[in-house]
Amino acid sequence: MTIIDGKKISNDIQDEIAIEVNSIKSKNERIPHLAAVLVGNDGASETYVAAKVKACERVGFKSTLVRMLATTSEDELLKKLEELNNDDDIDGYIVQSPLPKHIDEYKVIEAILPKKDVDGFHPQSVGRMALDLPTYLPATPFGIVQLLDRYKIETSGKHCVVLGRSHIVGSPMSILMARNANPGNCTVTICHSRTANLKEFTLKADIIIVALGKPEFLTADMVKDGVVVIDVGITRVPSDKTKTGFRLLGDVKYDEVAPKASFITPVPGGVGPMTIASLLFNTLKASKKEVYK
Ligand code: NAP
Repeated sequence: MTIIDGKKISNDIQDEIAIEVNSIKSKNERIPHLAAVLVGNDGASETYVAAKVKACERVGFKSTLVRMLATTSEDELLKKLEELNNDDDIDGYIVQSPLPKHIDEYKVIEAILPKKDVDGFHPQSVGRMALDLPTYLPATPFGIVQLLDRYKIETSGKHCVVLGRSHIVGSPMSILMARNANPGNCTVTICHSRTANLKEFTLKADIIIVALGKPEFLTADMVKDGVVVIDVGITRVPSDKTKTGFRLLGDVKYDEVAPKASFITPVPGGVGPMTIASLLFNTLKASKKEVYK
């Protein structure tokens, strides 16, 4: 069994990006610039955005954090996005979710100029992904594809079962695993809360990608020997053994599934770190105008 080290792969990708940025700097060209919009002061969002800004510094990108109050109206936010759309110095930006309840998330996503949509959530980005056209792939699914690629995990002809159908993970993941590409070329089954006899599917899977947000959902009796398991889930559970008072649990009962798996991602240190690497990768692509001229 091989434990997939997402932290190492994420660092490798960030090092590769840093080399490109150094070369851009040495030619006195414009360095990539990522902006992040944070509305309100949700604790987890603060942590995620801080990590993204820190990663930008690490690879030599310029970064801008746009902080807005939790009471910001939808119109005010849309106006700010228009400014970012028109700011030629910014290559790409993200709007950290969740947004306050009074703001329509889809209106916000649609307001992002597709050429600056480095999170890959705009309908145009999703459509281009489905059509196999150049685009920004959503960060978490793209990070998983990178893990499969860099660990040289064979996917062609395999049966991949994706648990969860969210717009940010499960659904795009199923598209990427089914497309005619490497990694890809899988026969894909997508399961969700209405799936009957879910275990029948997971037992037949060569690759299982779990994105439910249900701690330790996937147990050893649900998988066959030699399965590849990618655990996307992150749930904070109270713990008296850590300084923070909580620990992170994935969607896989790791201790019992790992011995049956050929490859498995741990939580933390598996898929999580890849999300940032993907975001930086997309921003570099945006600055090089690889998707849109
Ligand atoms: P989500 O939007 O809540 O979607 C969860 C999906 O799981 C839904 O499709 C839901 O089905 C399905 N589901 C829930 N209970 C189920 C059950 N008992 N059996 C079968 N399917 C069930 O979640 P998400 O945004 O995709 O996130 C999933 C997990 O990944 C969360 O823990 C999140 O924190 C984590 N995450 C991690 C990263 C990372 O960087 N590592 C990034 C994003 C998300 P229905 O559609 O039928 O409701």
